Amino acid sequence: MKYIDQIDLKEKKVLCRFDFNVPLDDNSHIVDDRRIRAALPTINHALDENAKVIIISHLGRPNGKVVDRLSLNPVATRLSRFLGKRVVLARDCIGGDVRKLIDNMEPGCIIMLENLRFHKEETENNDDFAKKLGSCADVYIDDAFGNAHRVHASNVGITKYVKECGIGFLMKKELNYFKKALNNPPRPYVAIVGGAKVSDKLQVLINLMKTVDKIIIGGGMAFTFLKAMGHEIGTSIVEENLIDVAYNGIEMAKKSGVKLYLPVDCVIAEKVDPKSVTKIVPVQEINPDWMGLDIGPATITLFAEVLHDARTVLWNGPMGVFEIDAFSRGTFAMAHAVANSHALTIAGGGDTDVAIHEAGESDYITYISTGGGASLKLLEGGKLPAVEALNKTSEE
Ligand code: AMP
Repeated sequence: MKYIDQIDLKEKKVLCRFDFNVPLDDNSHIVDDRRIRAALPTINHALDENAKVIIISHLGRPNGKVVDRLSLNPVATRLSRFLGKRVVLARDCIGGDVRKLIDNMEPGCIIMLENLRFHKEETENNDDFAKKLGSCADVYIDDAFGNAHRVHASNVGITKYVKECGIGFLMKKELNYFKKALNNPPRPYVAIVGGAKVSDKLQVLINLMKTVDKIIIGGGMAFTFLKAMGHEIGTSIVEENLIDVAYNGIEMAKKSGVKLYLPVDCVIAEKVDPKSVTKIVPVQEINPDWMGLDIGPATITLFAEVLHDARTVLWNGPMGVFEIDAFSRGTFAMAHAVANSHALTIAGGGDTDVAIHEAGESDYITYISTGGGASLKLLEGGKLPAVEALNKTSEE
């Protein structure tokens, strides 16, 4: 697979796929522009090489229809401000008018094509659509790590229709950090896995157990494990059908010498409600009608101690319902503990990234991934279809 800086871009039409699926408020204002900023090294490199830069991305889920509030217009405006350069937004991503616009481009200019998902053919990986997208370019650069686990026309199908393909700087960085985390990382290696459900991250847990020295499990998923250990967990979120699997996981960890840490206390409430009365109890004393919504202070101390001598830390998923102030302390404390560790620290998953940002620790984590689904796929030991498609082009 080629990297962008190994490809001659001079005066060529360079089609760059980014993940500009940024959160918008009700007035279509961008709430968080980190995904746009993460694309700047690739765009700047292409501009420095005097390429004709054509940008493609999806935004939201318009389900194959034109939805005005999901136009990439705010993204084009924000990007233009970052670059100090005009970014023209085309009205569509394919068609005669777009073609004309591209054919008339001067080197060093940028055009952004309208939301790919206004066409249902994008998510169907439609061959004809991929061909139309690709036929306007000399070079295709995929820098959309956040979309790399999907099989779509703009990241998989398209690779057959552009002569030269490669990846951008963001994709390169993402793949390198996950490679570090999965292949012989500095030890002790600690993985922190949280979030709502075991089922979403079961494969991740199984795969990580092959590599890590210690696993910390927090968040809603911890309660399935606690139940498997025989604890009464009140009305906490639980996946009854995975209790046996969780039990086997605990046994497997013991056998393979991986130390597994679960919460020893938690913040409980009767409902997931900011106004709920809360209590901190040991996990042995969760009231029958109450649910565990965050890790407690003793667990925070325990988990922070586990990180103390770590040399690699991987974190995916919050420790509690951190969106609500009363249940956010555990996740924020974890963000501080990870940031304070002397390890190589890699965090992934949409929610983890938001929590770290809100805790003010973004600058103190070695790497925060921009892709939730894609990072989970890699942590499961799986392959990314977008990367596979690019690998295939370089073999041909
Ligand atoms: P995930 O997408 O799997 O990383 O899950 C993130 C979600 O898990 C967040 O929205 C949290 O509110 C939720 N979550 C974390 N801990 C709990 C818990 N103890 N009970 C219910 N939901 C939780």
